This record gives sequence, structure tokens and C-alpha cells, in this order.
Amino acid sequence: MNGRFAPSPTGPLHLGNLRTAIAAYLAARASGLGFVVRMEDLDQVTSSVTHEERQLADLAALGVHPDGPMVRQSERGDRYRAALDRLEAAGLVYPCFCTRREIRAEIDAAAAAPHGLRPDGAYPGTCRDLGPDERAARAAAGRRPALRLRAGGAHVSVVDLLAGATAGLVDDVVLARSDGVAAYNLAVVVDDAAQQISQVVRGDDLLSSTPRQVLLQRLLGLPTPTYLHVPLVVGADGARLAKRHGAVTLAEVVGARTGAARRDRLVAVCSTLCRSLGVLGADERVAPEDLAGLAARCDLANLDRAPVRWNDLAAALG
Ligand code: GLU
Repeated sequence: MNGRFAPSPTGPLHLGNLRTAIAAYLAARASGLGFVVRMEDLDQVTSSVTHEERQLADLAALGVHPDGPMVRQSERGDRYRAALDRLEAAGLVYPCFCTRREIRAEIDAAAAAPHGLRPDGAYPGTCRDLGPDERAARAAAGRRPALRLRAGGAHVSVVDLLAGATAGLVDDVVLARSDGVAAYNLAVVVDDAAQQISQVVRGDDLLSSTPRQVLLQRLLGLPTPTYLHVPLVVGADGARLAKRHGAVTLAEVVGARTGAARRDRLVAVCSTLCRSLGVLGADERVAPEDLAGLAARCDLANLDRAPVRWNDLAAALG
């Protein structure tokens, strides 16, 4: 059984991502699990091997060393197709011809109506009950459909080890994009099972996707891992950390330092991130090669649930 870190190789990791990776690594080690890295590179336009290599190098520089080879989603299309076929055979898939803009317009139009626990941006169901003629007409008009799950208005509750129990109405989530590539939620569920992931520690921007993933696990007869969503690092504007917030990547924080100065800086970054995760005392330091030794102190269930402020991390780094 394993824990994992699953970045999208679409740019350099920032320190918020690296903090989440450290949390996932320590949590896995604390639970006696293996730890794997999966590159979520299904978007072949924005993903690149250069980013992938950079991300792995940054993880290694901070002492996060996966067990076993890294897996790429772009090489696993057959598995996603097989899962889709199973859902299709069970009558749980339908083609959706809507454009994003049409969906948005419909959501906006319905915004005044009460929508209960419906997740933000939930698909309003426009194509769910199209007849064969209507489908044929849309296809004839040159539209290539995405494939959606017939979720049937399922309410799914999930237990997050930090946030507690959350219940969500699952919408008809996209399973495959109109170009045939598997969509995020399907790929994650298939891969988590195939990689024997029993513990998911990731950013809390994905908490709202978890009921969708748990429903897919149930429909596919796959096990549900434990979930712990780590609060994100946010900029001064309260938005999740991004390039515009300044020098936020490891390369930027390390700068031109080499030799002992570079090593010192890596120790400072590793220590600051570990302190912010509550696994290191205020006057302690940890070198990247000793990171795994902190696993015994890892108790993420007691993490502060408030977002972490980038300014605080940057100030601690000096
Ligand atoms: N690839 C996703 C991201 O970069 C994370 C997916 C996951 O951890 O389930 O945000």
C-alpha cells in the first residue's frame, strides 16, 4: 500500500506544492506505506518532460524520495478506456455536446434557483436525456461529444481526516474529453487503485472533487483510500500561491547560490516547510537527507485548517 504525490508537470512546483508533497511523504512514511509519484500529464499541450524532470529534482533536493518508478498518466490510456467501457456497459455514460460557454450560460441562468449542495459549476444535465435523433443532429453539426457519468443525483459523503465529514451531491462529471482523452477524475480513481494508494494527502482545493472520486470508486468496485486535504498556501490577496506572488519556486528561492550556501538554503527551505506542517520546532532545523526521520512526529490530523500565508513563509526564509 502507498501514499502519493501527483503533480501536473505544467510548470515549476512552488513552495506550496512542495509543502504538500512533504506532507504526503511524511504521512506515508508515518503510516509505514510506500510513496509514489505520478505525473498527471494528460494535458499534452501544457505538460512537458522538462517540467517533469525539474519537479522530480526539486522533490529530491528537499529529501522527498519516491519508491519505485514514476508513472505517467499519458501512458495509461488503455486502463482509462477499460474503466470507461465498464461504466458504459452499466449504462452509466452518455455523450455531452455542450460547450463550456453553453454550460456556463445555463448555470448562470439557473443561479437564482436554490441548488442545495450542488458543487460549484456542476453540470446542469442538458444532454443527459437527449434522444437518438437529437444526438445525431448534434454530431452531424460537427460537434464531438465529451462523455459524462450518469451520476443519478448521488449524494456521497466522505471523511477527510482533517476537515471531517463532508457530503456532496455528485454531478454528471466528465469522464472523457471530446478529444477522447480521459478526464482528471476518472484517471485519478483508476490510478489510485492501480498504484495501491491507500492514503491520499493533497491540497484542499481538491476536497470538493473527492465525492466525485469516491462515487467513481464505488461504481468501479475499487477501494476508497483515506483522504487528508492540506490547507493551501495563499498570497497576500488570499488567492492560492502563483507566479504573480513573487519568488515562489525552489529555483527562485535558492537563486544563484552554489555549494555550502545552496545547501544551507535547502536546509532553510526544508525546515521552514516542516515547521509550517507542525513537524519541526521553532528552533530546530532539518536537512533534506534527514526529512524521513521526522515521520514519527507527523500528525497531520492536528494541522491548522486555515490557509498558510506565503508572506509568513517568505519572512521565515529571510
Ligand atoms: N494533479 C493534481 C494537481 O496538480 C493533483 C491530483 C491529486 O492529487 O489527486 O493539482
